[in-house]
Amino acid sequence: MTPSAHVSVRVDLSAVRANCIRIAAEQGVPVIAVVKADAYGLGAIPVARALADLVDGFYVFELAEAVAYDLAATGRRTIVMRADSRNPADYLAHRVQPAVWDAATATALRSAHPILSVDTGQQRFGVPAGDAAALGRVIKAGGITEAFAHATTPAHVAALIAACRGRVAKLHAAATALLPEHAAALDAVRPGLALYRGAARVTARLVEVRDSAGPAGYTGFRSARHGVFLAGYSHGMRPGGPCLVNGRPSRVPEVGMQSAFVECGPSGKPGDEVVLLGDGLSEAEVGAAWQVTPHEALVRLGGMGRRTYIE
Ligand SMILES: *Cc1c(COP(=O)(O)O)cnc(C)c1O
Repeated sequence: MTPSAHVSVRVDLSAVRANCIRIAAEQGVPVIAVVKADAYGLGAIPVARALADLVDGFYVFELAEAVAYDLAATGRRTIVMRADSRNPADYLAHRVQPAVWDAATATALRSAHPILSVDTGQQRFGVPAGDAAALGRVIKAGGITEAFAHATTPAHVAALIAACRGRVAKLHAAATALLPEHAAALDAVRPGLALYRGAARVTARLVEVRDSAGPAGYTGFRSARHGVFLAGYSHGMRPGGPCLVNGRPSRVPEVGMQSAFVECGPSGKPGDEVVLLGDGLSEAEVGAAWQVTPHEALVRLGGMGRRTYIE
Protein backbone atom coordinates (compact mmCIF):
# COMPACT_ATOMS: atom_id res chain seq x y z
CA MET A 1 0.00 0.00 0.00
CA THR A 2 1.15 3.54 -0.76
CA PRO A 3 0.19 6.83 0.88
CA SER A 4 -2.31 9.08 -0.88
CA ALA A 5 -1.01 12.56 -1.73
CA HIS A 6 -4.52 13.78 -0.83
CA VAL A 7 -4.62 12.52 2.75
CA SER A 8 -3.02 14.29 5.69
CA VAL A 9 -1.76 12.41 8.74
CA ARG A 10 -0.95 14.78 11.57
CA VAL A 11 0.85 13.17 14.50
CA ASP A 12 0.84 14.96 17.83
CA LEU A 13 4.11 13.94 19.50
CA SER A 14 3.12 15.61 22.75
CA ALA A 15 0.10 13.28 22.89
CA VAL A 16 2.43 10.27 22.43
CA ARG A 17 4.60 11.61 25.26
CA ALA A 18 1.57 12.20 27.47
CA ASN A 19 0.41 8.61 26.87
CA CYS A 20 3.87 7.33 27.85
CA ILE A 21 4.04 9.46 30.99
CA ARG A 22 0.58 8.32 32.05
CA ILE A 23 1.37 4.63 31.44
CA ALA A 24 4.63 4.84 33.43
CA ALA A 25 2.84 6.59 36.33
CA GLU A 26 -0.07 4.12 36.37
CA GLN A 27 2.12 1.03 36.12
CA GLY A 28 4.93 2.26 38.38
CA VAL A 29 7.56 0.52 36.22
CA PRO A 30 9.69 1.57 33.23
CA VAL A 31 8.21 1.60 29.73
CA ILE A 32 9.77 -0.22 26.78
CA ALA A 33 8.20 1.57 23.81
CA VAL A 34 7.16 -0.65 20.91
CA VAL A 35 7.98 1.26 17.70
CA LYS A 36 7.93 -1.67 15.24
CA ALA A 37 6.28 -1.28 11.85
CA ASP A 38 7.33 2.40 11.73
CA ALA A 39 5.58 3.07 15.04
CA TYR A 40 2.37 1.51 13.67
CA GLY A 41 2.49 3.85 10.70
CA LEU A 42 3.05 7.06 12.69
CA GLY A 43 6.79 7.32 12.00
CA ALA A 44 9.32 5.54 14.25
CA ILE A 45 12.08 8.15 13.91
CA PRO A 46 10.15 11.16 15.28
CA VAL A 47 8.21 9.00 17.75
CA ALA A 48 11.39 7.47 19.20
CA ARG A 49 13.05 10.88 19.46
CA ALA A 50 10.00 12.22 21.28
CA LEU A 51 10.00 9.33 23.76
CA ALA A 52 13.75 8.88 24.33
CA ASP A 53 13.96 10.60 27.71
CA LEU A 54 10.85 8.83 29.03
CA VAL A 55 11.61 5.17 28.30
CA ASP A 56 13.88 2.32 29.34
CA GLY A 57 14.29 1.38 25.68
CA PHE A 58 12.56 0.41 22.47
CA TYR A 59 11.29 -2.80 20.91
CA VAL A 60 11.10 -3.64 17.19
CA PHE A 61 10.64 -6.90 15.33
CA GLU A 62 13.85 -6.99 13.28
CA LEU A 63 17.41 -5.70 13.53
CA ALA A 64 16.93 -3.93 10.15
CA GLU A 65 14.19 -1.78 11.72
CA ALA A 66 16.43 -0.67 14.59
CA VAL A 67 19.05 0.33 12.01
CA ALA A 68 16.56 2.03 9.65
CA TYR A 69 15.03 4.10 12.48
CA ASP A 70 18.52 4.84 13.90
CA LEU A 71 17.24 4.01 17.37
CA ALA A 72 20.82 4.01 18.71
CA ALA A 73 20.80 7.79 18.23
CA THR A 74 18.24 8.04 21.06
CA GLY A 75 20.87 6.76 23.49
CA ARG A 76 18.52 3.95 24.58
CA ARG A 77 18.75 0.21 24.03
CA THR A 78 16.49 -1.63 21.60
CA ILE A 79 15.19 -5.19 21.94
CA VAL A 80 14.62 -7.05 18.67
CA MET A 81 12.60 -10.24 18.36
CA ARG A 82 14.37 -11.76 15.36
CA ALA A 83 18.08 -12.42 15.70
CA ASP A 84 18.75 -12.42 11.95
CA SER A 85 22.52 -12.13 12.38
CA ARG A 86 24.74 -14.47 14.37
CA ASN A 87 27.39 -11.74 14.70
CA PRO A 88 27.20 -9.91 18.07
CA ALA A 89 28.94 -6.87 16.58
CA ASP A 90 25.88 -6.22 14.39
CA TYR A 91 23.81 -5.72 17.54
CA LEU A 92 26.40 -3.93 19.67
CA ALA A 93 26.94 -1.33 16.91
CA HIS A 94 23.27 -0.31 17.22
CA ARG A 95 22.69 -0.77 20.98
CA VAL A 96 20.44 -3.72 20.15
CA GLN A 97 19.77 -6.72 22.38
CA PRO A 98 18.45 -9.72 20.44
CA ALA A 99 15.75 -12.04 21.76
CA VAL A 100 16.92 -15.68 21.81
CA TRP A 101 15.20 -19.01 22.39
CA ASP A 102 17.74 -21.65 21.46
CA ALA A 103 21.08 -22.38 23.09
CA ALA A 104 23.16 -22.14 19.89
CA THR A 105 21.95 -18.61 19.10
CA ALA A 106 22.26 -17.63 22.76
CA THR A 107 25.87 -18.84 22.78
CA ALA A 108 26.75 -17.02 19.55
CA LEU A 109 25.19 -13.75 20.75
CA ARG A 110 26.21 -13.92 24.40
CA SER A 111 28.36 -10.77 24.19
CA ALA A 112 25.39 -8.79 22.78
CA HIS A 113 23.47 -9.30 26.06
CA PRO A 114 20.62 -11.36 24.60
CA ILE A 115 17.18 -11.51 26.21
CA LEU A 116 15.28 -14.74 26.68
CA SER A 117 11.95 -14.97 24.86
CA VAL A 118 9.52 -17.29 26.63
CA ASP A 119 6.54 -18.74 24.78
CA THR A 120 3.69 -18.62 27.28
CA GLY A 121 0.91 -19.49 24.86
CA GLN A 122 1.33 -17.83 21.44
CA GLN A 123 3.30 -20.88 20.24
CA ARG A 124 5.93 -18.95 18.32
CA PHE A 125 9.18 -17.07 18.89
CA GLY A 126 10.11 -18.45 22.31
CA VAL A 127 11.15 -21.34 24.54
CA PRO A 128 7.97 -23.10 25.73
CA ALA A 129 7.41 -21.92 29.31
CA GLY A 130 6.95 -25.50 30.49
CA ASP A 131 10.29 -26.74 29.15
CA ALA A 132 12.47 -26.15 32.22
CA ALA A 133 15.47 -27.94 30.74
CA ALA A 134 15.49 -25.88 27.54
CA LEU A 135 14.99 -22.67 29.54
CA GLY A 136 17.98 -23.60 31.70
CA ARG A 137 20.17 -24.28 28.67
CA VAL A 138 19.36 -20.96 26.97
CA ILE A 139 19.75 -18.96 30.21
CA LYS A 140 23.17 -20.50 30.80
CA ALA A 141 24.35 -20.24 27.18
CA GLY A 142 23.40 -16.59 26.84
CA GLY A 143 24.31 -15.36 30.31
CA ILE A 144 20.65 -14.25 30.45
CA THR A 145 19.54 -11.65 33.01
CA GLU A 146 16.28 -10.52 31.36
CA ALA A 147 13.32 -12.47 29.97
CA PHE A 148 10.02 -11.56 28.40
CA ALA A 149 6.84 -13.10 27.05
CA HIS A 150 4.38 -11.77 24.49
CA ALA A 151 1.59 -12.38 26.98
CA THR A 152 -2.07 -11.84 26.18
CA THR A 153 -3.71 -13.18 29.37
CA PRO A 154 -2.91 -13.11 33.11
CA ALA A 155 -2.28 -16.88 32.85
CA HIS A 156 0.54 -16.17 30.39
CA VAL A 157 2.08 -13.74 32.86
CA ALA A 158 1.86 -16.36 35.61
CA ALA A 159 3.56 -18.86 33.29
CA LEU A 160 6.44 -16.45 32.68
CA ILE A 161 6.87 -15.91 36.41
CA ALA A 162 6.76 -19.66 37.12
CA ALA A 163 9.32 -20.33 34.41
CA CYS A 164 11.79 -17.58 35.25
CA ARG A 165 11.47 -16.09 38.72
CA GLY A 166 14.60 -16.79 40.71
CA ARG A 167 16.52 -17.67 37.53
CA VAL A 168 16.31 -14.36 35.61
CA ALA A 169 16.54 -10.96 37.33
CA LYS A 170 14.24 -8.88 35.14
CA LEU A 171 10.90 -9.92 33.60
CA HIS A 172 8.35 -8.19 31.38
CA ALA A 173 5.16 -9.39 29.78
CA ALA A 174 2.48 -6.74 29.34
CA ALA A 175 1.57 -5.15 26.01
CA THR A 176 -1.45 -2.82 25.70
CA ALA A 177 -4.09 -5.51 26.37
CA LEU A 178 -2.64 -6.32 29.81
CA LEU A 179 -2.05 -2.77 31.07
CA PRO A 180 -5.32 -2.88 33.07
CA GLU A 181 -4.03 -6.01 34.87
CA HIS A 182 -1.77 -4.44 37.44
CA ALA A 183 -0.16 -7.78 38.35
CA ALA A 184 1.14 -8.01 34.78
CA ALA A 185 3.44 -4.99 35.15
CA LEU A 186 6.36 -7.03 36.60
CA ASP A 187 9.63 -5.11 36.00
CA ALA A 188 8.59 -3.18 32.85
CA VAL A 189 5.69 -2.86 30.39
CA ARG A 190 5.95 -3.02 26.60
CA PRO A 191 3.07 -1.10 25.04
CA GLY A 192 2.67 -0.22 21.39
CA LEU A 193 -0.92 0.75 20.65
CA ALA A 194 -1.47 2.46 24.02
CA LEU A 195 1.29 4.96 23.18
CA TYR A 196 -0.44 6.02 19.98
CA ARG A 197 -4.09 6.32 21.04
CA GLY A 198 -5.49 9.74 20.28
CA ALA A 199 -2.19 10.95 18.79
CA ALA A 200 -3.01 10.92 15.07
CA ARG A 201 -5.49 12.95 13.07
CA VAL A 202 -6.12 11.65 9.56
CA THR A 203 -8.06 13.83 7.14
CA ALA A 204 -9.00 14.17 3.48
CA ARG A 205 -11.06 16.71 1.56
CA LEU A 206 -14.19 16.31 -0.52
CA VAL A 207 -13.33 16.74 -4.19
CA GLU A 208 -16.86 16.30 -5.45
CA VAL A 209 -20.35 16.36 -3.92
CA ARG A 210 -23.77 15.56 -5.39
CA ASP A 211 -27.38 14.95 -4.53
CA SER A 212 -28.50 11.50 -5.55
CA ALA A 213 -31.49 9.21 -5.50
CA GLY A 214 -29.10 6.26 -5.96
CA PRO A 215 -28.12 3.66 -6.86
CA ALA A 216 -24.54 4.98 -6.73
CA GLY A 217 -21.08 3.47 -7.04
CA TYR A 218 -20.26 -0.16 -7.76
CA THR A 219 -22.51 -1.39 -4.99
CA GLY A 220 -25.58 0.74 -5.75
CA PHE A 221 -25.62 2.35 -2.32
CA ARG A 222 -28.28 4.96 -1.61
CA SER A 223 -27.63 8.27 0.13
CA ALA A 224 -29.48 11.56 -0.37
CA ARG A 225 -26.20 13.41 -0.80
CA HIS A 226 -22.68 12.04 -1.07
CA GLY A 227 -19.16 13.27 -1.54
CA VAL A 228 -15.94 11.73 -2.79
CA PHE A 229 -12.44 11.92 -1.27
CA LEU A 230 -9.15 10.61 -2.63
CA ALA A 231 -8.17 7.59 -0.54
CA GLY A 232 -8.91 4.05 -1.66
CA TYR A 233 -7.99 0.42 -1.20
CA SER A 234 -4.51 1.05 -2.57
CA HIS A 235 -3.91 3.50 0.31
CA GLY A 236 -5.31 1.19 3.01
CA MET A 237 -8.85 2.57 3.09
CA ARG A 238 -11.76 0.21 3.77
CA PRO A 239 -15.53 0.61 3.41
CA GLY A 240 -18.15 0.69 6.15
CA GLY A 241 -16.31 2.85 8.65
CA PRO A 242 -17.33 5.96 10.53
CA CYS A 243 -15.92 9.43 9.81
CA LEU A 244 -16.73 13.07 10.51
CA VAL A 245 -17.73 15.53 7.78
CA ASN A 246 -17.57 19.12 8.95
CA GLY A 247 -17.50 17.76 12.49
CA ARG A 248 -20.66 15.67 12.09
CA PRO A 249 -20.74 11.86 12.32
CA SER A 250 -20.99 10.22 8.92
CA ARG A 251 -20.08 7.03 7.11
CA VAL A 252 -18.06 5.70 4.18
CA PRO A 253 -20.46 3.42 2.27
CA GLU A 254 -18.08 2.40 -0.52
CA VAL A 255 -14.40 2.45 -1.39
CA GLY A 256 -12.65 2.09 -4.75
CA MET A 257 -9.01 1.67 -5.66
CA GLN A 258 -8.08 5.36 -5.20
CA SER A 259 -11.21 7.11 -3.98
CA ALA A 260 -14.06 6.65 -1.52
CA PHE A 261 -17.67 7.75 -1.20
CA VAL A 262 -18.87 9.45 1.95
CA GLU A 263 -22.40 10.34 3.02
CA CYS A 264 -22.73 14.03 3.74
CA GLY A 265 -25.36 16.44 4.97
CA PRO A 266 -27.12 19.10 2.86
CA SER A 267 -24.39 21.68 3.47
CA GLY A 268 -21.49 19.45 2.30
CA LYS A 269 -19.42 20.96 -0.51
CA PRO A 270 -16.11 20.38 -2.31
CA GLY A 271 -13.16 21.28 -0.10
CA ASP A 272 -14.88 20.25 3.13
CA GLU A 273 -12.81 18.21 5.55
CA VAL A 274 -13.43 14.52 6.18
CA VAL A 275 -11.90 13.24 9.44
CA LEU A 276 -11.02 9.54 9.23
CA LEU A 277 -9.27 9.34 12.63
CA GLY A 278 -9.05 11.81 15.50
CA ASP A 279 -11.33 14.50 16.93
CA GLY A 280 -12.75 11.79 19.21
CA LEU A 281 -12.99 9.12 16.50
CA SER A 282 -10.72 6.29 17.69
CA GLU A 283 -8.89 3.48 15.87
CA ALA A 284 -10.95 1.09 18.02
CA GLU A 285 -14.24 2.45 16.61
CA VAL A 286 -12.93 2.44 13.05
CA GLY A 287 -11.46 -1.06 13.50
CA ALA A 288 -14.75 -2.40 14.88
CA ALA A 289 -16.65 -1.07 11.86
CA TRP A 290 -14.00 -2.41 9.46
CA GLN A 291 -13.98 -5.73 11.34
CA VAL A 292 -10.25 -5.50 11.98
CA THR A 293 -8.19 -4.98 15.15
CA PRO A 294 -7.45 -1.44 16.38
CA HIS A 295 -3.81 -2.20 15.48
CA GLU A 296 -4.71 -2.85 11.85
CA ALA A 297 -6.98 0.20 11.68
CA LEU A 298 -4.19 2.40 13.06
CA VAL A 299 -1.44 1.11 10.76
CA ARG A 300 -3.74 1.51 7.74
CA LEU A 301 -4.76 5.06 8.68
CA GLY A 302 -1.27 6.12 9.77
CA GLY A 303 0.15 5.01 6.44
CA MET A 304 -2.66 6.50 4.39
CA GLY A 305 -1.20 9.92 3.69
CA ARG A 306 1.51 12.51 4.08
CA ARG A 307 2.66 12.77 7.70
CA THR A 308 3.33 15.99 9.55
CA TYR A 309 4.21 16.44 13.19
CA ILE A 310 3.28 18.81 15.94
CA GLU A 311 5.17 18.89 19.23
C1 LIG B 1 3.84 -5.71 19.16
C2 LIG B 1 4.35 -6.19 20.47
C3 LIG B 1 4.01 -5.50 21.65
C4 LIG B 1 3.05 -4.33 21.67
O1 LIG B 1 1.72 -4.74 21.44
P1 LIG B 1 0.50 -3.69 21.62
O2 LIG B 1 -0.71 -4.54 21.63
O3 LIG B 1 0.54 -2.77 20.45
O4 LIG B 1 0.75 -2.95 22.89
C5 LIG B 1 4.60 -5.92 22.83
N1 LIG B 1 5.43 -6.98 22.86
C6 LIG B 1 5.77 -7.67 21.75
C7 LIG B 1 6.69 -8.82 21.88
C8 LIG B 1 5.23 -7.31 20.53
O5 LIG B 1 5.56 -8.00 19.43
